[in-house]
Amino acid sequence: MKLQDESIGDLFDTGLFIDGTWVRSSSGDTRDCLNPADGSVVATVDEAAPEDATRAIAAARGAFDEGTWPRTPVAERTALLATIADLLERDKEKLARIETLDTGKTLAESRIDIDDVVSVCRYYARLAAIESDRLVDVGRPDVISRVVHEPIGVCVLIAPWNYPLLQISWKIAPALAAGCTMVVKPSEVTPLSTIAFVKLIEEAGVPRGVVNLVQGSGAVLGSALTDTPDVDFISFTGGLVTGRVILETAAKHVTKVAVELGGKNPHIVFADADGDDSVDQVLTGVFLHSGQVCSAGTRLIIEDSIADRFVAALAARAEKIRMGDGLDPASRTGPLVSMAHREKIERYVALGVSEGAELVTGGSRPPNPELERGSFYLPTIFDRCDRNMRIVREETFGPILTVERFTTEAEALRLGNDTEYGLAAGVRTADGARGERMVRGLRHGTVWLNDFGYYTAAAEWGGYKRSGNGRELGPAGLSEYQEIKHIWHNTAPTAAGWFDND
Ligand code: NAP
Repeated sequence: MKLQDESIGDLFDTGLFIDGTWVRSSSGDTRDCLNPADGSVVATVDEAAPEDATRAIAAARGAFDEGTWPRTPVAERTALLATIADLLERDKEKLARIETLDTGKTLAESRIDIDDVVSVCRYYARLAAIESDRLVDVGRPDVISRVVHEPIGVCVLIAPWNYPLLQISWKIAPALAAGCTMVVKPSEVTPLSTIAFVKLIEEAGVPRGVVNLVQGSGAVLGSALTDTPDVDFISFTGGLVTGRVILETAAKHVTKVAVELGGKNPHIVFADADGDDSVDQVLTGVFLHSGQVCSAGTRLIIEDSIADRFVAALAARAEKIRMGDGLDPASRTGPLVSMAHREKIERYVALGVSEGAELVTGGSRPPNPELERGSFYLPTIFDRCDRNMRIVREETFGPILTVERFTTEAEALRLGNDTEYGLAAGVRTADGARGERMVRGLRHGTVWLNDFGYYTAAAEWGGYKRSGNGRELGPAGLSEYQEIKHIWHNTAPTAAGWFDND
């Protein structure tokens, strides 16, 4: 692998990590990873071929079936996770730099991501350590009945490009804690921080074959990774279209799949929560990371009586957002991840205009000459939207806010649930009883009341409806990687006696 930025070079080895060794892609294919802020090449990495993915699965299968890791005492497994967390902290600045160069997000955001990854590793180290068998009273003194957790087996872990390190850590940490072996596939668009992470996991002393890494195109590797009986669990985070393909493919083998998919998340503002803080929260909720956040609050649903003033204040703030290279401390948001993604956003903006939405601000690339080489796009607000518009229904995954208005609480709730997705929602109101009615009525996996965007390692994350199934983080995020076994132990064996003939 070639690396243009010497300051991060020591976090890398070579391309793919299979069966405890860094190897080249068997096809010899490579990919240039571009800095979205200026189009420069950050690194050139190996691109795995399907045969590499098959070898990686075989290595993980061997490590699970014959290796030590699934049978290693939990204290040793959690100690390894704690060491990984220490190494992440040691290399935090380098990792943050890698993430910014690869994704375009600001260094401040990347640092928060690394802190979160550390907290996820430490959380699962603690949780797995305290997990114990459950004794079941079967009403017989001669029987000991226990329910125990065992590692589910070989896992394929597939992550998207928007939070590469964070998303993959939500999978790797519980998988390691549970005693699984795995094949990790980052997005081909942003593989660098995952390569560095696997390098740290190697340094921490993970046994051979437990963690394998194949970066490369999903379209090329997809079937080798998912259309196989040798995998016990697939954990996928990405878009709805890819999620469906994986679910259909895995169904052939009855492989368990957890999918964390997109969102079209409402942020509902009642008139009694009017004010600068609410404007600020709506702004941050949608435009952080240039809107490339699965839980971004892309639908503002606002009480009609305050809508005009609120939207004007929001537009004024949006126009002042400082865009720039994520490495520049003055930047408050970076570019979109790629030129191709910006083109997608431009198509959605053109669609919004043609659908009759009122363009309040944005709707173009920034005029600043110093941003010309990057894939930047202005924060964009569309007012007077309705749910028949595709920009309201579909996940645009960029800096586009749509505004819908309501007059009653029932209407607000109906609009908030009027989406095929169900990942996250926000409610802003000063009325406690109404807030409680709203958070219970909204069919979304996370609901924020008078706040937006927060999560924690100890609380489950996941979607209702087409935002996915399964959960990451929290105790349920560990359970995904476990089989449950009931052990019935008769301490005073006798004949069954059912077929006795007297
Ligand atoms: P994507 O296109 O669905 O890709 C996600 C991952 O799947 C990538 O690693 C991709 O590889 C891989 N992939 C593509 N085709 C595949 C196939 N046939 N078989 C197996 N893997 C395949 O999604 P994305 O554009 O990277 O990410 C954006 C989406 O992720 C958004 O919808 C966002 O909402 C969602 N997301 C959800 C959450 C959540 O927690 N629910 C969190 C973050 C993001 P390549 O990149 O190499 O093609």
